[in-house]
Amino acid sequence: MPILVMKFGGTSVANIDRIRRAAKRVGVEVAKGYDVIVIVSAMAGRTNELVGWVDEISALHDAREYDAVVSSGENVTAGLMALTLQEMDVPARSWQGWQVPVRTTSIHSAARIEEIPTDNINAKFAEGMRVAVVAGFQGISPEGRITTLGRGGSDTTAVAFAAAFGAERCDIYTDVDGVYTTDPRISDKARKLDRIAFEEMLELASLGAKVLQTRSVELAMRYNVKLRVLSSFEEQSDEAGTLVCAEEEIMESNVVNGIAYSRDEAKMTLVSVADRPGIAAAIFGPLSDAGVNVDMIIQNIAEEGRTDMTFSCPVGQVARAEKALQDAKTRGEINFHDLIADTNVAKISAVGIGMRSQSGVAAKMFKTLSDEGINIKVIATSEIKISVLIDRKYMELAVQALHDAFELDKVA
Ligand code: ADP
Ligand code: ASP
Ligand code: MG
Repeated sequence: MPILVMKFGGTSVANIDRIRRAAKRVGVEVAKGYDVIVIVSAMAGRTNELVGWVDEISALHDAREYDAVVSSGENVTAGLMALTLQEMDVPARSWQGWQVPVRTTSIHSAARIEEIPTDNINAKFAEGMRVAVVAGFQGISPEGRITTLGRGGSDTTAVAFAAAFGAERCDIYTDVDGVYTTDPRISDKARKLDRIAFEEMLELASLGAKVLQTRSVELAMRYNVKLRVLSSFEEQSDEAGTLVCAEEEIMESNVVNGIAYSRDEAKMTLVSVADRPGIAAAIFGPLSDAGVNVDMIIQNIAEEGRTDMTFSCPVGQVARAEKALQDAKTRGEINFHDLIADTNVAKISAVGIGMRSQSGVAAKMFKTLSDEGINIKVIATSEIKISVLIDRKYMELAVQALHDAFELDKVA
């Protein structure tokens, strides 16, 4: 029988009523003749609560125990979903990650899936089971410890299962009815896209649009998984939601197709470092060793052999970055007069594959922000995106102004 993967996010399994509603959706696909692999998230808010408990005990916690705790929310929903399906007379069984087993690397809290053996679950399908319910977000390391895939990781579990089992499609059920031109919670002019190219979705996800985890889009692109985002709250047809697909499958497209934002950014400046060969390596080596995810970087023009170096990173990593840089200074590897952290910035990005062939997008973006009186602190560009750092208090305004300026509410 053809296989379908259906993933339900936190709000879609937030309570027993919603689990019943999701199970009904699964029942519809089973009735059509699919064997279904259901991937579930933890109930809404549960993972945050678990993370909070870990942080309360220890800020610099053992990542293996963090994973042991935060993976547990998905175990509950997997069992509850299997029970609900059984109550509907749909033969179903639940699996935790280690039981499949979802084999991952041992990078705790940011593990990557390496292998998903299919024999276990396929044997059950062969015996007449119609739905395998798998706890998302989790796996098992080569050392036999529980791992998690990073926040939002159930999306990646879903796409990885779709690839491993050769599923006909991977449906991501969430609390919005598709991928929009920007977060519909920020702009009421956001427009749902019927289709979006893998490359654009990849950029939007990595620049902050949390509707899909970045890694899930990477996997879908690599294994050509037919990936769809749709709402678990509405009745759905086969054409509902947004299809994430190859560029060639999209007929019309705007130059800019999406605006993403990332709220929790920080900008750090090393004031007056020596401008000499090797200085960038001496700064960013220790930051990388400390696990700081450096994003944008600017080096100023040197004056009398000294320069300022500015970079951005997630606001939660500022303390770690400061320690790494102060330690490097103590060791005599770098020298700076001051280290300034601006923790009130946000990153806004415009994304579109049309930028490859059309110039003027950056100029329009800068003009729009300037017309709103918004100061740009750092700029970064790539082939299909332009990102800027601005004061966080202007974030919503910037998203809305850019959405208007690029006329994203209108179809190309
Ligand atoms: P789930 O719990 O189902 O995984 P998430 O909260 O992780 O759901 O992702 C869905 C949310 O992503 C939406 O509620 C929406 O606020 C946000 N989002 C951000 N950018 C976009 C976008 N461009 N299109 C749709 N949703 C977006
Ligand atoms: N429950 C996990 C999280 O909140 C994984 C997921 O929902 O995708 O990050
Ligand atoms: Mg999510």
